[in-house]
Amino acid sequence: MKIPVAILGGTGSVGQRLVGELGEHPWFEITELCASDKSAGKTYAEATHWILSTPIPDSVCSKQVLPCSLPVKAKIVFSALSSSVAGPIEEEFASAGHIVISMAKNNRMRADVPMLIPEVNPEHLNLTRLQKYPSGGMIITKPNCSVIGLAMALAPLEARFGIESVNVVTMQSTSGAGYPGVPSLALFDNIIPYIEDEEEKLEMELGKIFGTFSDSGVIPHRMTVSATCTRVPVTEGHLEIASVKFRNKATLADVKDAWRNFGQPKFLEGLPHAPVRPIIYSDDVAFPQPRLHRDYEKGMAVTIGRLRECSLFDFKFALLSHNTLRGAAGGAVLIAEMLAKSQFKASQFCCQGCVREESTRSV
Ligand code: NAP
Repeated sequence: MKIPVAILGGTGSVGQRLVGELGEHPWFEITELCASDKSAGKTYAEATHWILSTPIPDSVCSKQVLPCSLPVKAKIVFSALSSSVAGPIEEEFASAGHIVISMAKNNRMRADVPMLIPEVNPEHLNLTRLQKYPSGGMIITKPNCSVIGLAMALAPLEARFGIESVNVVTMQSTSGAGYPGVPSLALFDNIIPYIEDEEEKLEMELGKIFGTFSDSGVIPHRMTVSATCTRVPVTEGHLEIASVKFRNKATLADVKDAWRNFGQPKFLEGLPHAPVRPIIYSDDVAFPQPRLHRDYEKGMAVTIGRLRECSLFDFKFALLSHNTLRGAAGGAVLIAEMLAKSQFKASQFCCQGCVREESTRSV
């Protein structure tokens, strides 16, 4: 029997991706779809302005959309809610004993809430032990969509050379702004050099992701991050140009070697959304590009290229990740798969030592 899951915000741009990823999932079954009062009572097909290029899965087409209120039967609840409403709704569901896996920003920086990328900081799941919800309720978040790609690219570099500083300029797709998002007349033939709150998230979230887990919370990493975020007329996929400064010496070959050897951790083997190659590096000067490379590993890989020496920092490179898959729905489903494999014992991913041993990487 499949594990029932509910989606809060199932009608939005990320909610649709969740429906796409979960509609025919081998382990999970969507039992409840919830959205705002304007959608509640309609069928999913009526309530949703479907924007994916695959059809709405038959299993949800005629399901009635529910309001985002209790009770909901599924223990696992994905939240793709607008951040204007996500905070209190997620709190209410966790307080009622649900495992909330959230894509919204509201709870990410809470000291007792993990901000998780399974390949990067699985031990942070243990933060859920600090949460005081009854009946196994908990909130787990994943980082901002442009932070995820950057953090994955930095993870093997941090492990080998130590990161001191990062400068990043993002070129973020329109789907990152939800639906209907940025008006077409504002974005055709144009680039907008500002995305509200985005630079702050990039500068703050990396410190928590690379922070050291301790029994009282995460001690943030002290890397310096400077970010500039722009919106570009691309439908899916955030391209980012990063320059990094290391604590220890490295050569170009060392950096490539670190990326090429960043394989799938053992504890993710066999999970439907775990990419076999989480990082794909190429020396091709035209790599990576959103339209051509965002779907690598079903949208769950980070593609990297254009590595060269930097005259200000040590090295610079370009990276790309799919914002609604790896950066949102796919990343959240991977967290749910990881929990399901561990029979929902979030604290099994307890200390860095255990996880390092457990997660010996295969290339
Ligand atoms: P979106 O397209 O605007 O969808 C928002 C969802 O929230 C819709 O299902 C909407 O339902 C629901 N909602 C709005 N107001 C509500 C209310 N008062 N009560 C209940 N439900 C309500 O946004 P999105 O791009 O999918 O993003 C969803 C979340 O994921 C946001 O927090 C966003 O920051 C985050 N995120 C987005 C991306 C991305 O690439 N887009 C990536 C990572 C994280 P109705 O359809 O009924 O209005």
